[in-house]
Amino acid sequence: MLNIPDSGKKRIVIVGCGFAGLTIARKLKNSDYQVVIIDKHNYHQFPPLFYQVASAGLDESSILFPLRKIFQGYNDYHIRKAEVRSVDTANKKLVTSGGTIRYDYLVLAHGATNSYFGSVQMQNHSKAMKTIAEVIDLRNNLLMNFENSLIAADESEREKHLNIVIIGGGPSGVEIAGALAEMNKHIIPKDYPELRTNRPRIFLIEAADRLLNIMSPRSSMKAREFLEDAGIKVLTGTKAVGCDEDTVYLDPGDSIKTKMIIWTAGIKGNLIDGFDNKVFTKSGRIIVDRFNRIMNYEDIYAIGDIAWMTEEKYPNGHPQVAQVAIQQSKLLAANLKRRITGDPWKEFRYRDLGTMATIGRHLAVVELPFVHFQGIFGWYVWMFIHLMSIVGVRNKLIIFFNWAWKYITYDQSTRLILRPKGYS
Ligand SMILES: Cc1cc2nc3c(=O)[nH]c(=O)nc-3n(C[C@H](O)[C@H](O)[C@H](O)COP(=O)(O)OP(=O)(O)OC[C@H]3O[C@@H](n4cnc5c(N)ncnc54)[C@H](O)[C@@H]3O)c2cc1C
Repeated sequence: MLNIPDSGKKRIVIVGCGFAGLTIARKLKNSDYQVVIIDKHNYHQFPPLFYQVASAGLDESSILFPLRKIFQGYNDYHIRKAEVRSVDTANKKLVTSGGTIRYDYLVLAHGATNSYFGSVQMQNHSKAMKTIAEVIDLRNNLLMNFENSLIAADESEREKHLNIVIIGGGPSGVEIAGALAEMNKHIIPKDYPELRTNRPRIFLIEAADRLLNIMSPRSSMKAREFLEDAGIKVLTGTKAVGCDEDTVYLDPGDSIKTKMIIWTAGIKGNLIDGFDNKVFTKSGRIIVDRFNRIMNYEDIYAIGDIAWMTEEKYPNGHPQVAQVAIQQSKLLAANLKRRITGDPWKEFRYRDLGTMATIGRHLAVVELPFVHFQGIFGWYVWMFIHLMSIVGVRNKLIIFFNWAWKYITYDQSTRLILRPKGYS
């Protein structure tokens, strides 16, 4: 049992405290509901800056926020660290790793995970960036590869440790590529003087014919130009069709020897059992109506990355980005309050506030609703928006000073290999 006291109020259980879960939970403050938040982690994470942690540019504690601190002082809010496994919709109960819990209203905000499109090899041999645990693992491996390149038995072995292959040329792939190029230019020669003449080589592989497919062709072209200027080998129209321990195989027929594959190419919904298969899309998202209600299930809602809703402008569902999660959560909180007052519910309509991707320390491509721009001004806009979105003044200040320090010194903060007991 999750031991939640009965306060006499209707109970809303929120599964997951990412952008969607956090926003709806905050918006329900002082409502007439009891709120229970269940997450398998005891913190909220900020994925847009994962690539900076992966490339040793930011300390992970700057982008993680303890849930209990966020919700200090919230009345009749209860947090449980547990993994939700299934829903018993007939009895309005959730089954979790910590026991069962009853709900009156259930809000699913448990997000998405990596999809390897069925490739077991890719899953086993690549590193991903969907959770902070994966990001730290990626960083450790990256740094271990630099160390191993120095003690490699021969040139071919050394090459494998120094080749970095990023698969997926969307915003995450472009951002990690840019950050690694910067590391290659400014950090490697100082930390590893022996690698000055034999630096890591970074490849960015994209199956479509251009990077940043979700942005305009001009932004794609600019991003490619920035990356190539920084020394990245960009291969578009190229599919990674398989891999093993030290090779990535490409279509059309080629291969790259590497010990470092970074996978950013696919995502699918996190799975919770108990629903009819009909509610899922092929990529595991849950189909909802314009009120975020799951079809044929009473009092159950899905928001954020896990939800799949169509609008006239979005016949294939919304993009899986933070703004969709935040806007859906705000509206659902307001609608749940309307349930108490008896007011009619409002339909969701996505307001696209823009898309951006940063490349290295001072370049970005930015597309706002009425204006597109690239370069250093784009980077300032990117920096401002991300800084403002970070939870907590302390974290804002830490990240701001970290960026300012990096900007002036070209140095990075955390190049430590920290592994759990049992690893060398
Ligand atoms: C590397 C990376 C970079 C990104 N950059 C950007 C960007 O620049 N701009 C942008 O708009 N978007 C970006 N995104 C996308 C954005 O992060 C997501 O759209 C957003 O996080 C979705 O929010 P969510 O609340 O739906 O899911 P999430 O933020 O994924 O939160 C899901 C929560 O559910 C919890 N959970 C999962 N399963 C269970 C379970 N079974 N039981 C209990 N808890 C569970 C997780 O621990 C997590 O806390 C990026 C994503 C990644 C991975």
